[in-house]
Amino acid sequence: MSALANEFSWSHSRHESFQACLKRYYFAYYASWGGWDENAPARVRELYRLKRLSTRQQWAGHHAHQAIEFLLKNARRDPSGEIAASAEPRQIDLMRREFRDSRAGAYRADPVHVPGLFEHEYQLEISAEEWKATVDRVAVAIRQFLAGDVWQAIQEVPDDGFLAVERRAHFLLDGLKVYAVPDLVIRRGGQVIIYDWKTGVAPLAEHRTQLGVYALLALDRWTAAPGEIEAVAYNPILDRREAFAYSADDLETLREFVRDSADEMLFPLENPESNDAGDGANFDCADDEAPCKTCPFLRACPRWNA
Ligand code: SF4
Repeated sequence: MSALANEFSWSHSRHESFQACLKRYYFAYYASWGGWDENAPARVRELYRLKRLSTRQQWAGHHAHQAIEFLLKNARRDPSGEIAASAEPRQIDLMRREFRDSRAGAYRADPVHVPGLFEHEYQLEISAEEWKATVDRVAVAIRQFLAGDVWQAIQEVPDDGFLAVERRAHFLLDGLKVYAVPDLVIRRGGQVIIYDWKTGVAPLAEHRTQLGVYALLALDRWTAAPGEIEAVAYNPILDRREAFAYSADDLETLREFVRDSADEMLFPLENPESNDAGDGANFDCADDEAPCKTCPFLRACPRWNA
């Protein structure tokens, strides 16, 4: 087994996983821990392999993010526009290769490096048109991003105004490690602006809490003044955005939210001090079967394998 300790930390995605289904959360954050190691027990390896699967929607979102990251890191200072123009074919080509590898089951032998698709693992019948539409969404996201005014505005920011691009970061809240991965953070006109790219169908206003956690990170890293922080959820496919501001009171409420959520997560553990979840008996399956439809742990879950 890996010697890497499984330390308790908090993130917004972890909170969402905990709220969706305790059993799924247990599989993702405890039972699959160390499964990247070839010498881990077979059950741990299997759960890790399942954890790494993506639905086609998640896969498309990942590729849209990766393409925008490529543009931000490589195309801002290219007046010819050639690098920007290469982003779409480059990304679509990568998607094609990943699709073929996933369909062939290559991820089973190497889940650490080879992406696997949920639809292939569970042999779902997805039409060729639907797969094409999935890839097309990424192409549209790249094209629309390049045509939108967010990209225009970003290009005018000097290099030292770029504070973070897709960088996993954390801050401490009363000793608790809180992780956040804002897609882009820039400094412009005395403001710290946080961007998060959204390619799903959820209304952008629903992301206020998640981006509020990024605002807490900004307060820890880049400014002491809440009034200087603006957080923007931007959907390049629809060219829609929602901007959020947070008062000092709002941020204190967010801190309370994180503390309460972390306390809830620690409650079912066998030993919260050592972040030990035991055999998972305290982590029940969700009452509702709705989250099961896209759950990568279907084949391991007691609900479906009694
Ligand atoms: S299949 Fe359903 S009940 Fe089982 S872990 Fe997944 S979401 Fe939870």
